[in-house]
This record gives sequence, structure tokens and C-alpha cells, in this order.
Amino acid sequence: MTHQQVSPDGRRVVVVGGGHAGGTLVGLLRQAGFAGEIVLFGQETDLPYHRPPLSKKFIDGDLEHWLREPEFYQEQDISVRLGESVESVDPAARRVHTSGAQALDYDVLVLATGAEPRWLPTPGSDLAGVLTLRTLADARVLRKAVISGSRIAIIGGGYVGLEVAAVARANGVEVTVIEREERVLARVASTQLSEIMQAYHRERGTTIITGAQVVSLSGEDGRVRDVLLGDGTRVPCDIALVGIGAVPRDELAAAAGLVVDQGILVDDQAHTSDPAIFAIGDVTRRPLPGIDGLLRLESIPSAVEQAKQAAAAIVGAAPPHAEVPWFWSDQFDLKLKIAGVVSAPPGTVLRGDPASGRFALFHHTDGRVTAVESANAAGDFMAGKKLIAGGERVDPVRLADPAVPLRNAVIK
Ligand code: NAP
Repeated sequence: MTHQQVSPDGRRVVVVGGGHAGGTLVGLLRQAGFAGEIVLFGQETDLPYHRPPLSKKFIDGDLEHWLREPEFYQEQDISVRLGESVESVDPAARRVHTSGAQALDYDVLVLATGAEPRWLPTPGSDLAGVLTLRTLADARVLRKAVISGSRIAIIGGGYVGLEVAAVARANGVEVTVIEREERVLARVASTQLSEIMQAYHRERGTTIITGAQVVSLSGEDGRVRDVLLGDGTRVPCDIALVGIGAVPRDELAAAAGLVVDQGILVDDQAHTSDPAIFAIGDVTRRPLPGIDGLLRLESIPSAVEQAKQAAAAIVGAAPPHAEVPWFWSDQFDLKLKIAGVVSAPPGTVLRGDPASGRFALFHHTDGRVTAVESANAAGDFMAGKKLIAGGERVDPVRLADPAVPLRNAVIK
């Protein structure tokens, strides 16, 4: 790839974090014509990679899906320092200090430090066989463990838990999902979608326990053997996967004096409270058009959108248009695509039949669609996303009828 609009630029951009956000940003900077120096620090020893296959396809095929081929970084003159972390930032001197005891000055700093699995504060969570899933290294361990184990207890019924449950179950493993909320996907999905997904998993042989309190994990010879719940239930297992949420890795930013509150606070162009420092990806909380307050969106589309914002701001290009947030998840043969922010809007319309495996839930306030949750219905998802962005009103009765084309549900 050649640099477009290359202009002399003596600046050095330092990117902290080689996840999807940081890895995307460095490529976008070159595409946007940034000709200065780019240094990317990655704490992991793997090059930036695609994370979705780690929970969706961790048994079959390759886990190593690189964001960019290894040669890319050399060709684009991007210095990638893997296995090296930034330990502190001195914003006054515009300098970072690394785990390699080196200091490096920056003109622009981008924090893309991501999030890490929440720790389960329960006796026995340090036993062998108690795993978490975030990194490629974690997925390699999980793959081996699931192949050799026959029973997995999954603590947490979020995306990590349910995606791993689906893969494990499809491979003949006995699966129990233990969720403390009254429904799975409580943080990210509507009640209706949670119920559909719970039924879908249960019909395929997964045990789902909701409203559960994990009291302890116990083991034999240092290896996990069962999970004890508050009501006395024992869930026997060979592996326990803990997927109980992710916490933003914002300590570096906080220590540098940036404004941090459950994530690094940024504006709609990824600026932090320091004009020379941007932050992007899972570590940030940010404003979204039409939504009150700030949200920490933990998704790839959001990381990519913020990488575009930061790249544009760094090279002085026009800011990109705001995107409707969206997510996807694969569970068994269901391809879920969700757009908008699912809260508890007054109206919900079901289009299609969950029993057929193809449906969409449109959530609306007075006919204005605020979110769509679809399964195997890419057309409805795309149309829903446009409706959210456009703000047109729809007729819920026509919307519910799959025989009526979606465009005819819009009230002219
Ligand atoms: P999550 O979506 O926050 O779900 C975790 C669930 O575990 C929540 O319902 C949580 O309930 C529950 N929980 C918390 N403590 C528990 C406990 N002690 N016992 C039982 N359940 C407990 O987080 P995740 O599934 O771990 O995912 C981690 C991150 O990866 C998230 O950012 C997620 O969005 C991301 N991810 C995304 C995708 C995707 O977009 N397809 C796929 C994989 C991962 P409370 O709400 O009460 O804490």
C-alpha cells in the first residue's frame, strides 16, 4: 500500500495498546497520509489480531487472524514494540516511560489500553482449570482445555459466556452457564432477546442457571472440580470459564492526571482532557448522538469508529460522521446483529419467527426506532440501522408483518 497525500510531518505518534483500536489506528494514520513517526506498544507478544474468533471459533481452524499481515508494519514504517508496556506518562514533558526502562517523547499520544476480564472474588478462583478469555494466549489455553475436558461451567452469561457455550456444546461438551442476573445477556440485550437466546441454548442441551450466586470453587489436586452456588447446588466441571465482564484499563490515564470515570472520558473526536492525548476503544467512555450521558461501548465497530476519529483529528482531516453503534455475535447457527443502544423503550415489534431462526426485534419510542436486534436477518438489521440514524417514524403494525417491505412501514 502506498501513502496517500504524503506530507512532511516531523511529529511522533505513540500508540499504547495493540488491540483492535490501536492496531486499526496505525494503519488509518498512514492511509490518511500521516508521514511522521508511529510507534505502537503492545503488551502482548502477538501482533494486533482479530478478537471475535477467540470466542466464536476457538475449537476449529486458526486462531491467528492478524489485523494486518506482519510485513505491513515494516512496509509502512510503523515501529511495533511487542511485549513492552508503557508504565507511565508524563504529560507535561510529553514523554512515556516503558517497561524496558526507556523514555520516549511524543507529540501525540493515543491510549488504546482496552479492558481486562473482571476478577471473580470467590474462594477457589485461583485453581488450575479456572480460565478467562480475552487474549489470543487465553484462547489457546481454552482450546486445549475444552478439547480435553468433557464438562465446562461457565460463570457469566454475557457474550463471552454464551459464545463459548455454543461452541463447546456444538462439540459435545456438557455445558452449564451460571448467571447472577435473572436472565442471560442482561447488560446488552432486551428481555425478549434474552428469553429467545436462553431457550435456544437450552434446546441444544446447555443448562442455564440464572439468579445464581457463586459461593466458591473447589478442586482436587489443585484443579477445579466443581462450582458451589448459594442455594447449595454443585456444578461439577473439568474447566470453569469466568466471563463476568470487563473492566477498563484506565490506570495509566488516571495516573497521568487525565479525567477518568469508569473509563477514560473522551469527546466525539476521541480527545481526552489533555489536548496532546487521544483515547480510543474499550477503555473509553464517550458521548453518542441522541443518547444521554456517556457510554463505554465494548465493541469492534466502536473501536474502529474511534480510530477513524483520532486519525482524522491527528492529520487535521474533517471528522467522520457519527455511526449508529452496533454489535454482532454468533451462537450456534444464529448470526445476531444488534444496532442502537438497547434500553427499555416503551414499544417492541417482533418481525419474523424466532422458531424459524430468522427474526428481528425493533424497539421504538412512539414509532421511532431506537434499537434493532436481529438474528439471521441482515436486511432487517441494515434497515433498522438506517431507521435509527434517520429518525423516521414507522407504523408498528406494518413493521410486524414480514410480508410488508420495511420501507413501506415508514410513515410518510
Ligand atoms: P458481560 O457482557 O458484561 O457479561 C457478563 C455477565 O456476567 C453479566 O450478566 C454479569 O452480571 C454476569 N456476572 C457478573 N458477576 C457474576 C458472578 N459472580 N456470577 C455470575 N455471573 C456474573 O461480559 P463478558 O461476557 O465477560 O464479556 C466481556 C467483554 O467482551 C464485554 O466487553 C463484551 O461486550 C465483550 N465481548 C463482546 C462480544 C461480541 O460483541 N460479540 C463477544 C465476546 C466478548 P452483572 O451485570 O450483574 O455484573
